[in-house]
Amino acid sequence: SLFITDECINCDVCEPECPNGAISQGAEIYEIDPDLCTECVGHFDTPQCVEVCPVDCIPKDPDHEETHDQLYTKYETLMAVG
Ligand code: SF4
Repeated sequence: SLFITDECINCDVCEPECPNGAISQGAEIYEIDPDLCTECVGHFDTPQCVEVCPVDCIPKDPDHEETHDQLYTKYETLMAVG
């Protein structure tokens, strides 16, 4: 999963770009649900939120490190659930 650091300026451009609906506005800044984030694996070659974030505040989450295979399995599970 990716995560949003406290450098977020709440610009809102990332939320609509996420194909998994993993991004939402939190109490103070935007947040990524690690259960929904596939780092865009299965949808795009690169994470779309990272592409659009103007302040580059969306790194990989060190607390939720996943391999490409794990991310792809999550993608397949999310698609099956709908
Ligand atoms: Fe925050 Fe970056 Fe998303 Fe804008 S694009 S809301 S700065 S994480």
